[in-house]
Amino acid sequence: MTKSLRDERTEAYRDHRAQLVLSKFLSGEIEKLDPVYDPRYGYTYPIAEAITGDPASAEAFLSRLHEIGILKRTMFDKAINCPVCGSGNVSIRYCCPYCKSFNVKKSALVEHIQCGYIDVEDRFKKTDKLMCPRCHNELTKPEVNYRRAGVWCACSECGKNFDIPVPSHFCHECRNVFTFEDAVYRDVYSYSLNEDVIREAGVGYILVGPIREFFRSRGFSVESPGFLKGKSGASHMFDIAVTKGDITRNAIVLDLATSADEVSEQSIIAMFAKVYDVAPDKSFLIAIPKMSENGRKLADLYKINLIEARNQKEAMKALENLLDLAEAQSEVQSTQASV
Ligand SMILES: [Zn+2]
Ligand SMILES: [Zn+2]
Ligand SMILES: [Zn+2]
Repeated sequence: MTKSLRDERTEAYRDHRAQLVLSKFLSGEIEKLDPVYDPRYGYTYPIAEAITGDPASAEAFLSRLHEIGILKRTMFDKAINCPVCGSGNVSIRYCCPYCKSFNVKKSALVEHIQCGYIDVEDRFKKTDKLMCPRCHNELTKPEVNYRRAGVWCACSECGKNFDIPVPSHFCHECRNVFTFEDAVYRDVYSYSLNEDVIREAGVGYILVGPIREFFRSRGFSVESPGFLKGKSGASHMFDIAVTKGDITRNAIVLDLATSADEVSEQSIIAMFAKVYDVAPDKSFLIAIPKMSENGRKLADLYKINLIEARNQKEAMKALENLLDLAEAQSEVQSTQASV
C-alpha cells in the first residue's frame, strides 16, 4: 500500500529540516520564500540552503514539501541553464536567421508620413536633423509628420536584412553556444506556507512565535533555529537559542517535540548530546502533549527542564514559572555565596 499524503506530511513534521522551514514561516520571519538570483549559480534559495547544506538538495527539499502539501508555490520565473555545464550564467544573443551570426546591427525604421517613405533611421540623419532621402523635407514632429515603423536588422556577416532575429544563448561559464532546442528550460518557484498544515502540524510550531516574544520582551536575543558552538568545536542546532549580549556561555536553549500521544525519550537523549557539548545556562524541552515515563526520568537525570503541555497556553505558563524559579534559585545561591 502506498502512503497517503497525510502520512507523508506526518513524517515530514518529525523531520527537523521541515520543522525549521515551518517555524520560519510560523514565526513570521518569512512570508514568502522567493528564489534569489546569483549571477554565477542562477536561482538559489539561501534560507533553504542553510538548512539542507547545498543548492541542489535545497531545491529538491522545497519541491518535496510542495508535493506533500506543506508548501504552496507560484511561478516566479523560467530559468535557462546551459545543457553542457548546467550553469545559469547565460545570456541571450539575437542572431541572423540566414547565417546564424550574432554580429547583427539593430536599427529603428522610420516612416516619413507625408510621402510614405520608409527606411532605417540612419538614412534620415543629416548632421543633427532628420531629412527625408526621397522628398528632402525635414522630419520635425514625431507622430505628426514621421513615426517609428518597427525595427530592422542587418547582418554584418552575410549582409542580409531581416526584421525578426533568431535567439541563441551564450554560457559565460563554459562558453558553449546553444539554441532554445538544447536549452535546459526549467520552472522557478516562490514558496509559501499552506495554511491548512498549521493545525495539522500540531501546537509545537505555533510555540516558536510566543516564546520568541517572551524572551525578546525581557531583553534577550532570540534565534530560531539557533546554532551554538560546543566545547568539541561542533556547531549544534536548537529550535530556539536565547542569549543576552553575545555571551553564548549564558545561553538558554529550547527544543520542541510533539507526538500524537507521548513524546519518546529519544528527544531527551538527542538534546542531552547537544547540551553536554554546548553547556548552556539552562535547557528546556517542551513535550507536546506529554513525555514518556522513561523520558521524564532521563530529563531529571540530565538536568533538562522538561515542560509537558497540551497547548500553547500551558507551555508558556510552565516556561514562565520555571524561569522565575530558576532566577529565584540563582539569587539565593549568589546570596549564600556572598555570606
Ligand atoms: Zn556552460
Ligand atoms: Zn519624404
Ligand atoms: Zn547573416
